[in-house]
Amino acid sequence: MPVDLHVHTNASDGQYLPEEVVARARLQGLSAIAITDHDTTDGIPAAQKAAAVSFPPFEQPRIIPGIELSAEETVFDDGKGRETAVDVHMLGYFINIKAPEFQNALSRFRDDRLMRAQAILRKLDALGMPLDWKRLLEIAQGGAVGRPHIARALAESGYVENVPQAFELYLRNGGPAYVARERLSPEGAVSLIHQAGGAAVLAHPGYIHHYSDLVARLISAGLDGVEIWHPGNNEHVRANLKVLAQRYNLIATGGSDYHGEAVKPAIRLGFFTAPEGAIEALQSQAHFYRSLNDSQ
Ligand code: AMP
Ligand code: FE
Ligand code: FE
Ligand code: ZN
Repeated sequence: MPVDLHVHTNASDGQYLPEEVVARARLQGLSAIAITDHDTTDGIPAAQKAAAVSFPPFEQPRIIPGIELSAEETVFDDGKGRETAVDVHMLGYFINIKAPEFQNALSRFRDDRLMRAQAILRKLDALGMPLDWKRLLEIAQGGAVGRPHIARALAESGYVENVPQAFELYLRNGGPAYVARERLSPEGAVSLIHQAGGAAVLAHPGYIHHYSDLVARLISAGLDGVEIWHPGNNEHVRANLKVLAQRYNLIATGGSDYHGEAVKPAIRLGFFTAPEGAIEALQSQAHFYRSLNDSQ
């Protein structure tokens, strides 16, 4: 049965409650989903509980505890002749969501997100597009605030047509209202995930121009896998990634990066899935890091 290993809830920038996501996963006939919210694990217990209480034992979708960390690095953009910040997202699977150091790090990242959202609103204000801070927090529904929430606030106020246009005109990296976050390196993200007893997988490499070099570099940091099946990877990227996964013995994963239709209109839950055996491979890597941590 198909499994979708990249799913967001309203604990971060997804549209739906964890319970609603689980119900949708079941409707789509998925046997497992990984909840991979940005910088928070708060949606996971509710999703696990919903799966356990809403369905008979053999119909319960399995909920895999995950995370999506935002790292960043600066690359020289030949085309533009200048340096640009590139987002590098790292997925973590089978993390121990109770690990205190891990939760401390996530809580710092979320504080940073709040400060950065305030800075973005100041920039938008200067551009003649004031937004209401309280309304933004309402849109974020108490979750980790991200640019997609600000994009929704911009659309709601009529400054833009929709979320993609808000990114295109104002919020994209280097855009007029862009503000960078506290820097976490891709290596740092891998290491945080390992410390939390999880397996680290490079998310949507298709969004990263230099992904081949990056994957090669992250092997020595202990990267465990690459996300091959994702709406952001075209056929060419997928073929390249398969070669890289073979060469470096990486786990090949996949997922839809579902956020709900209000956030990413074209993306449906379960339309991108992971190959057979991916879950077991991730779990076995996670088990290895867990026992490594325990023996220290
Ligand atoms: P943040 O974590 O606040 O930096 O926001 C990054 C998130 O914004 C990504 O995970 C995507 O979900 C979303 N995003 C980034 N670029 C775009 C875009 N051009 N259009 C729509 N959503 C985007
Ligand atoms: Fe997102
Ligand atoms: Fe991402
Ligand atoms: Zn995602």
